Amino acid sequence: MHRIIPVPKLKPGATRNQKCHPAKEKDMAKINLPPARLNDWKEVILKKMAEVLDKYRSVRLYLDICVKCGACADKCQFFLGTGDPKNMPVARADLLRRVYKKYFTLGGKVWGSLNEAEELSESLLADWYTYFYQCSECRRCAVFCPYGIDTAEITMAAREIMAAAGIATKYVTEVVAKVYDTGNNLGIWPAAWKDNCAFLEEDLREIEGVDIKFPVDQVGAEVLLVPPSADNFVNTNTMIGYAKMFHAAGISWTTSTYCNEGGNFGLFLNYYNLKKVNNRILEAARQLKVKKVYWGECGHAWRAGLAFTTTLSGSMDFLEIPYPVHICDLTWELIRKKAFKIDKTANDQFLVTYHDPCNVARAAGYFEPPREIIKATCNHFVEMPADTIREKTYCCGAGGGLLADEIMEIRLAGGKPRAEACRSTGANYLATICAICKANLPEVMKHHRVNCEVGGVHDLLGRALVLKG
Ligand code: SF4
Ligand code: SF4
Repeated sequence: MHRIIPVPKLKPGATRNQKCHPAKEKDMAKINLPPARLNDWKEVILKKMAEVLDKYRSVRLYLDICVKCGACADKCQFFLGTGDPKNMPVARADLLRRVYKKYFTLGGKVWGSLNEAEELSESLLADWYTYFYQCSECRRCAVFCPYGIDTAEITMAAREIMAAAGIATKYVTEVVAKVYDTGNNLGIWPAAWKDNCAFLEEDLREIEGVDIKFPVDQVGAEVLLVPPSADNFVNTNTMIGYAKMFHAAGISWTTSTYCNEGGNFGLFLNYYNLKKVNNRILEAARQLKVKKVYWGECGHAWRAGLAFTTTLSGSMDFLEIPYPVHICDLTWELIRKKAFKIDKTANDQFLVTYHDPCNVARAAGYFEPPREIIKATCNHFVEMPADTIREKTYCCGAGGGLLADEIMEIRLAGGKPRAEACRSTGANYLATICAICKANLPEVMKHHRVNCEVGGVHDLLGRALVLKG
């Protein structure tokens, strides 16, 4: 069997001390969680666990049906990168399963450890915090489980349960709190957002000699774009790609300073905040009276938008169908219609390969449009090995709320399979449609000495699109 990296030797406890910093009281208060770990944390956790088991039947099912076949054991990039056995999906899930058995099953209550049941203790809680925040909720393990057990859902449940007792990470809670303060994950205030849009306009006027707009808060625009906020400040070539395309196709569009973020870190914390963050997109669309909303290049934004908007935030039927729509769907449609001219030679310096972000690919079944855009805008494209792409894609190493500086070792180790898969192609441009991947993969490539630029799909479009002036 082909393996992009070998199965490592077991190193028990290797990543035990790689912990995310705990949440700050001020952020917890803003996102409706107890400010710090509650004194009666054990009772609160067991009560919340009962609620979760009752509400999310899939979690109970996943905890009940695992036969310990081991098929998932070597499929997680965090186990492959670290060798810590608690990063095997089955072992990660067992951290919650043992408590489930102890308090919620007859066998566990009667037979205790003989039935793999364990008391909820301080040390087990420490393992929950460590290892459920070393899982990027990528779902790769679920693809290989003969029973379809989705450890990501177990991780989501564990995080929700801990959060109820005031236990969460600084990074995730800080990001959610920033959204409520400023409208986006980066904490960019409206004036700075507008300034940056004006700066990008000026830049393009100088470089291209064309007056391309980056409209903000335009009531009555046809389209509301909800990019990851990083596109406006960090991955600006992606933002430029969107703007050039809207300009060339004659589509009126806008961003919103109330909601200039597609990303939804509620997905990595609890359903309450997932819903509240998602609601903002629909509120912004109503405020600006747009007809369409396009989600930008962000993995978990698309998963949250596609899987949870209608179920949690209500109908989008005030928009034109179809909804929700990924920006790549529009781009690919415009390319097929020949809405603008493309000069593929503008990207001839690149041998491009494509990294499927977990939340776009595995969680949303979205594989072809980004590839079609790349092939339409570049002459040189190569796929990575089949067992590392599409539904079998590896995480970049920092999804699921793991893009925290203090766990850089985990991020780099988790990104190793992707780095090796990229190396095997000889590509010098790794395209992807996720802001988290774009943030972590450059670090991963540098660390594993793979000489490859990382960028967006719309960056390639922006370079190749020929403007009339
Ligand atoms: S969901 Fe992804 S990160 Fe989590 S255990 Fe499964 S493979 Fe590992
Ligand atoms: S593959 Fe599925 S059934 Fe087998 S050990 Fe993993 S989670 Fe359990």
